[in-house]
Amino acid sequence: MGSEQDAASAITGSLHPPAEERVFHGLGVSPGVAIGVAYLHNAGNVSVPEYRVPASRLDDERRRFAEAVAGAQGQIGKLQARARDLAGTGGEDLGYLLDAYQQMLTGSRLLRGVERRIAEERLNAEAAVQREITDILASFLAMDDAYLAARAEDIREVGRRLVRNLTKVPYKPFSLLPKNAVVLAEELTPADTALLDPRRVSGFATLLGGGASHTAIMARSLGLPAVVGMTGIMGGARSGGTVIIDGGKGLVIADPRPATLAEFRRRRAEILRGRRRLSLLRKVPAVTLDGAAIHLQANLELPGEIDAVLASGAAGIGLLRSEFLYMNRDDLPSEDEQYAVFSQLVHRLDGLPLTIRTLDVGGEKIAPGLGLATSPNPALGLRAIRLALKRPVILEAQLAAVLRAGAHGPVRILLPMVCTVDEMLAVRAILDSVVADLKRRGLPIATPLPPLGAMIEVPGAALAADALAWHADFFAIGTNDLTQYTLAIDRADESVAHLYNPLHPAVLRLVQFATEAALRARIPVSVCGEIAGDPRFSALLLGLGIRDLSMSAGCIPMVKQRIRGLDLVAATRRVRVIMDQSDSARIAQLLDDFNAAAG
Ligand code: PEP
Ligand code: MG
Repeated sequence: MGSEQDAASAITGSLHPPAEERVFHGLGVSPGVAIGVAYLHNAGNVSVPEYRVPASRLDDERRRFAEAVAGAQGQIGKLQARARDLAGTGGEDLGYLLDAYQQMLTGSRLLRGVERRIAEERLNAEAAVQREITDILASFLAMDDAYLAARAEDIREVGRRLVRNLTKVPYKPFSLLPKNAVVLAEELTPADTALLDPRRVSGFATLLGGGASHTAIMARSLGLPAVVGMTGIMGGARSGGTVIIDGGKGLVIADPRPATLAEFRRRRAEILRGRRRLSLLRKVPAVTLDGAAIHLQANLELPGEIDAVLASGAAGIGLLRSEFLYMNRDDLPSEDEQYAVFSQLVHRLDGLPLTIRTLDVGGEKIAPGLGLATSPNPALGLRAIRLALKRPVILEAQLAAVLRAGAHGPVRILLPMVCTVDEMLAVRAILDSVVADLKRRGLPIATPLPPLGAMIEVPGAALAADALAWHADFFAIGTNDLTQYTLAIDRADESVAHLYNPLHPAVLRLVQFATEAALRARIPVSVCGEIAGDPRFSALLLGLGIRDLSMSAGCIPMVKQRIRGLDLVAATRRVRVIMDQSDSARIAQLLDDFNAAAG
């Protein structure tokens, strides 16, 4: 197989890689071992509608096509950046191939042909792409040239990419998955991941993505072993081959030898046995050795996880990420639809509290129904509470749904990415008007009104925590974003994932500052970022004064076990020493030594 073809298969997965065992290293983001059938995502064709475009809409159609081309250029650009980081000829070959793709996306016969078909035949853009591709391929075949035959797959790939960008949503990319599939993909968005059915999918590995990304979070909550930053994987596995994912060690093994397979089957069984042992802790309280009771609640990404939440022994839901209601659809969920989902959860929780966070889209979390313009810097743009205040109808529908669900059991309202007291005041004013409206409509609502809390996940909010604590009924510290914004590290970017470190003293000081502000103001404070679910951090968070943690349901037993073996007085003493340090490596050492001494 020629090197260029090797590189082609890195993108398309269409050619046959060697069947001997191949091991790839990446960043493990969701623990566990998966053994299954490789499914190369994006390798297939997308079916395409065909229709005539009215003359009055031809300009729109041309614009739509231009956007799809620009999108494809951006996607390939991302891959080019990755290829540049790759060592050796593999990276070089991939680079050449991606350069060729870029050339096809600038002033090529393909683009000219599609533009002509839109203008002259008045064909919709996706059909024009497909017809043009078919014509180009036919002319290549007629020439009977081995070089051109090899180019055919490249043209098909560029065409598929354009069509995917044009068809956008509804997007059901995983409807044809084999059972026990291991998904291998360039990238999975949080919305893609939400479509993975854990009954069919055993795990996934991607080229792009960081450990604190929402995709990684979603993997952990679905209990799917996952690895990101997995360079070379798309070329190293064939669809239908056996593949192993070790999400703890960050390993992917394609076409394993029988001995490797046996070893990983043994490890998987061991992990499952360990989980079963831990699940026996479900009913025992989360109490430290010296008698401090700790509240362990669950984060919920998708309503389907509620069974796992109840089975985990969680003391409620400390963070419901309501984004799922907006994903993979073109329209917005109505108040009634949201009320139905929230009230169902309230019923299932049967008296345990439900904290519903209002919509937090923007950044990597997208909601097509909102029709948001692309932001030059999405993580800093119109997202979360800023978006809600700019488009209050969205917030009003959510608040009304929460208030109505609160008539059936305890709920709390949590606002994402709060930065200023003004934002809290603005939401309170909207909440008051929604309450008045519901009363006018004669609908039962929560009485008393639900507490209104602020996520502390922006450094400015942590530093202004004293003022915010006057206006918030509770705090939930979101260490995922707090780390991202404090250290200026994109949590979803695998190229800086090694720099993402919640143990940086600046992050810890902000957590400490916000916690102490809440304790002074006598309002509840929890941590609901990913470190809450990692037993390595339990002593640190408890030593900082935190008594409420919210995490993926699957993490609750491990954290509970750690808490039950923890001496809070000793942890508090150790944290005092930790907070005097300026070096994160030293902090990690002090924490790990403390954990190791506890056995
Ligand atoms: C956080 O930022 O820590 C958090 C819990 O919110 P999300 O991960 O949804 O951004
Ligand atoms: Mg956040």
